[in-house]
Amino acid sequence: MRKNIVAGNWKMNLNFEEGVSLFSEIVNMVKDEVIGKQEVVVCSPFIHLNTIGKLAETVGNVAVGAQNIYQAESGAYTGEISASQVKSVGANYVILGHSERRAYFGETDAILAEKVNVTLKHSLTPIFCIGETKEERESGRFFDVIKTQLENGIFHLEAAEFAKVVLAYEPVWAIGTGLTASPEQAQEVHAFIREVVAAKYGEEVAESTTILYGGSCNPSNAQTLFSQKDIDGGLIGGASLKSRDFLEIVKVFNA
Ligand code: PEP
Repeated sequence: MRKNIVAGNWKMNLNFEEGVSLFSEIVNMVKDEVIGKQEVVVCSPFIHLNTIGKLAETVGNVAVGAQNIYQAESGAYTGEISASQVKSVGANYVILGHSERRAYFGETDAILAEKVNVTLKHSLTPIFCIGETKEERESGRFFDVIKTQLENGIFHLEAAEFAKVVLAYEPVWAIGTGLTASPEQAQEVHAFIREVVAAKYGEEVAESTTILYGGSCNPSNAQTLFSQKDIDGGLIGGASLKSRDFLEIVKVFNA
């Protein structure tokens, strides 16, 4: 049985007080309303992590993660944050390869492969994002694009290490645009990803890999997306900034 996960990506939003207050709201709502076995994750900016990580450790029903780490262990990398630093404040997850980092910060598959290694080395779970641009979808190249992102960014792992990874399919054209992939479009790609994983690591690993969908997921479309056979939850941007919306998405797995 693979894990269902709903992870919020706050991106570069919320000052310290706002973030801590939103996280407290989420924790309380999860305590009162979440009755399923889904894992709830909040990936905040670095400034919140220490405080919400401690809160998360006390409460135990919501995990926290970072949105990025630097690939080196430590040293003269002014302005960067390492995997061990993130781990030391109680985080358990790191988003890697988000399309915004690929597009705006030049993160290549090769850099991401290094980030995957250091993330796993420090017992953090990578949420490894893959997905095609609008142009790649329209030209029909999206399957190749996604396969290449997997092959070059994460398929260097041994099966035992790969089994610790969470994948997130995030079509770039659906992120922050209000254009959600239809459940059929998303399912088609999720099934393809699982096939590619099976060809590399075998059926058993593929069947137990959690694959999240991300891209304008909200309380009104989450149910139909998450009911698809190969969609195991969501990576949620905009809708994770409102506690009630985020909880409505999480609660899809209550049944
Ligand atoms: C994201 O940034 O990972 C994302 C899915 O954003 P949104 O939900 O806002 O499209």
